[in-house]
Amino acid sequence: MGNKNSGNKMKIVFATGNPHKLKEIQEIAGNTAIEFVLPPEGFDPIENGKTFEENSYIKAKEANRISKMMSLADDSGLCVEALNGAPGLLSARYAETPQARINKLLNELASHKNRKAKFVCAMTLLDENGKIIFQTRGECHGEISYTQSGNGGFGYDPVFLVENTGKTMAEMTEDEKNTISHRGQALRNVIKFLTHQPIDI
Ligand code: IMP
Repeated sequence: MGNKNSGNKMKIVFATGNPHKLKEIQEIAGNTAIEFVLPPEGFDPIENGKTFEENSYIKAKEANRISKMMSLADDSGLCVEALNGAPGLLSARYAETPQARINKLLNELASHKNRKAKFVCAMTLLDENGKIIFQTRGECHGEISYTQSGNGGFGYDPVFLVENTGKTMAEMTEDEKNTISHRGQALRNVIKFLTHQPIDI
């Protein structure tokens, strides 16, 4: 596909400024022949899309514009049923700090019995010319707990109880989280696409 390779690895820019995300992505990609690298300096996308898919395209396009390399971006967020899908696209901007975002979420849900929620992750892969070659989505279902628990992960992980596990995402090992997470599902689809394996979506 004409992308720049280091050794035998296919190098793809992963459009993020979040080192936690890059780490998760690299761990999920583990033993594949794909190496993800951060975008060059100057990566500053304007995330004004109306869907996770649109925002992931905007980020991938910006990474491709400044790197001229094959680029992958994700856009993710937490959607809470009783809050009509909030914080959704605004998950990263719901309040000032990660702890303030958790506190706000627990306060907003205080009077709600319906705690159903899902993490969503859309991914867009562009070729080196900036053309979309693959788009996919992963979802992880669960509930918002009443109190926070666990030290792993990031963001809303300490209050997200993963369906059928009895654990918050922050109580899981990295491997456990990657196996069930929205980002893990979406990235495995991307890897299958790149390595020509059947994709079950
Ligand atoms: P993005 O960087 O625009 O995709 O923002 C995603 C935001 O959604 C993050 O800053 C977190 O607040 C939240 N989020 C997305 N994925 C996760 C996850 O795996 N765990 C916890 N929070 C997440």
